[in-house]
Amino acid sequence: MARVYNFSAGPSMLPEEVLKKAAADMLDYNGTGQSVMEMSHRSAEYEEIIHGAEAVIREVMEIPVNYKVLFLQGGASSQFAMIPLNLFRNSKRCDIVDTGTWALKAISEAKRYGTVNIVASSKDDKYRSIPALDPSKFDKDADYFHITTNNTIEGTVFADLPDTGNVPLVGDMSSDILSKPYDISKFGLVYAGAQKNLGPAGLTLVIVRDDLIGHALDFTPTMFNYKTHADGESMYNTPPTYAVYIAKLVFDHVKATGGVKAMHKKNLEKANMLYDFLDSSKLFKAVVAKGDTRSIMNIPFVSPNEDLDKKFVKEATKVGFVNLKGHRLVGGMRASIYNAMPVEGVKKLVEFMAAFEKANG
Ligand SMILES: *Cc1c(COP(=O)(O)O)cnc(C)c1O
Repeated sequence: MARVYNFSAGPSMLPEEVLKKAAADMLDYNGTGQSVMEMSHRSAEYEEIIHGAEAVIREVMEIPVNYKVLFLQGGASSQFAMIPLNLFRNSKRCDIVDTGTWALKAISEAKRYGTVNIVASSKDDKYRSIPALDPSKFDKDADYFHITTNNTIEGTVFADLPDTGNVPLVGDMSSDILSKPYDISKFGLVYAGAQKNLGPAGLTLVIVRDDLIGHALDFTPTMFNYKTHADGESMYNTPPTYAVYIAKLVFDHVKATGGVKAMHKKNLEKANMLYDFLDSSKLFKAVVAKGDTRSIMNIPFVSPNEDLDKKFVKEATKVGFVNLKGHRLVGGMRASIYNAMPVEGVKKLVEFMAAFEKANG
């Protein structure tokens, strides 16, 4: 069967070049006579892979030297707990912007260990926007300030980062890391589950400023302490070896194809193409209003009714545009168009949507 255009929110598409390289390496990585999956994580070959992965991600994201790069497990969801466990050290208070499902999970975990101040929420707008932030409401003594940079389910993105002064800004970047340039020095910590823009599920990337490591609450489990993994260079225990290897191939691919700036340009081209169509369509419409808080990674949209939504998803699937069904909380459709989605995939989707509109309008 031919490869499909996969619009899944995650796990999602990987660059075909990466999959081909992995296939070629499967039985014999680099003349070792083994698959990377079979390799000891303490072997020289594997150390080269994991250290190489760190070097390339540092280069493409321009990560400053005073930040550690950690390859962890447990998904972004484990970070909802790991962040308060490690960052609550003085006031044990944090500010969190409530922008939807994932932010709410960060809130409910942080509440187990300290006090959460919801600085702003777009709940009243059904999370179809990023709420305006009033800096006078920011807690100057908060131990951290948390945002979800891109809201995967709702399709919104922070157009500007809040200025939190000396309070470390923490960003859940699961669904837009590597999609556009981010100035890491503006953050104390960023984290991302790999399965959207970085590689396979099972790997979680954490980038954390040195001074935030080593102050975990005393009851923090060893495996949930950033210091454990910083000291162990992500090899305190067995890392997700194969997932790190694939992520390295993805990082190499990003670098070889022009870096994060080139990704951003391509992502804007794809997103603009789809939004332009949605804004001019008489049948379909984007859920998030026009403006700079529309995500370029996850684009929810609807037709006039649920029956037509269903028909659209069914017919799209038949011709190779898969996973367009919207999240159960939002309904309708959602096209997730991460880095690995080719421009051609969005172009063909728009053509298909135009034809569907003609037949059903
Ligand atoms: C997918 C996602 C998560 C959850 O990631 P897991 O790795 O499944 O735990 C958290 N936050 C955001 C923004 C996401 O997109």
